Amino acid sequence: MHVNEVNTHIMPVQFEYHAPTSLREALELLSKHGGEAAPLAGGTDLLVKMKQRLVEPRHVINIKNVPELSGIEERGDEIHIGAATKLRAIEKSEIVRARLPLLQEAVRTLGSVQIRNMATIGGNLCNASPAADTATALLALDAKAHMVSSEGTRTVPLEEFFTGPGRTVLKQNELLAEVSSPRLPEDCGTAFIKIGRTSLDVATVNVAVMLRLEGEVVGDCRIALGAVAPTPIRVHRAEEVLKGKELTDETLKTAARIASESIKPITDIRATADYRKQASETLLRDALMTAKKRAQRR
Ligand SMILES: Cc1cc2nc3c(=O)[nH]c(=O)nc-3n(C[C@H](O)[C@H](O)[C@H](O)COP(=O)(O)OP(=O)(O)OC[C@H]3O[C@@H](n4cnc5c(N)ncnc54)[C@H](O)[C@@H]3O)c2cc1C
Repeated sequence: MHVNEVNTHIMPVQFEYHAPTSLREALELLSKHGGEAAPLAGGTDLLVKMKQRLVEPRHVINIKNVPELSGIEERGDEIHIGAATKLRAIEKSEIVRARLPLLQEAVRTLGSVQIRNMATIGGNLCNASPAADTATALLALDAKAHMVSSEGTRTVPLEEFFTGPGRTVLKQNELLAEVSSPRLPEDCGTAFIKIGRTSLDVATVNVAVMLRLEGEVVGDCRIALGAVAPTPIRVHRAEEVLKGKELTDETLKTAARIASESIKPITDIRATADYRKQASETLLRDALMTAKKRAQRR
């Protein structure tokens, strides 16, 4: 087998390594080297792709020593998480456990402890895999992406951040600075479910649900699915059919059918498109029932 087709210890790409210690320095480097540069966070996607020569940046800008890009903070009704925050820190965060249990549940399923000790939330989002676990959870949380460049800052709803497999709205001179999510209301329940070929593999399908009940009736609901379309997606039509209704077998079945009709999965080495459609229906029903039970327990 050709050396570039496997993940070996050999780095076949020549590049200049930069390790800025401030956001300003990082952004200056990014402006200067633009299209020839790649930010390096945990490297668990980037270095694999460089070893396989799928990307060949001339400049690698390590952003892990930039203090402005790391940390978890509750500000008003929102939780802000720096892009370079490690997934292991998110998994262990008291703020995330209390305010965004859906994100914690998703992070726990991502790779292994070793991967989560390296990998960052920003890397998971900027890599823009349709199967990215934090993306699905953050979509159901109605999160926003905050970007920064030497020219200023801008914010987009996370739903507008992804533009295709491996593609986002980030410009060449921009970094993802942080993500923010509204704190979950006390009376809601959430659930994240993922299936994969092994516990270490990326999702074959993942689903995230946020559900707020008013008595027996769905007051609010957000549904996101991953690995079933070119980007992780919100399934608004399925959300709409549930609002104002009781979660009965019938309404669950209708929402799951609508979700399965709304997606465009592909067949790849992990699963067939048909399998993904069927799995989406089942996982969504399970996630809604789990979220309902959790909402009723509060
Ligand atoms: C064994 C293994 C198992 C895995 N399992 C899973 C899994 O179960 N689920 C899953 O979703 N993923 C999984 N992954 C993929 C990967 O670990 C995650 O996507 C991880 O979160 C990437 O984060 P990172 O910090 O390592 O990103 P990096 O590799 O450092 O960067 C990824 C990409 O994002 C860019 N980038 C990083 N940060 C920024 C920023 N702040 N602004 C702009 N661009 C930026 C980089 O230039 C690069 O293009 C797995 C990977 C491995 C090797």
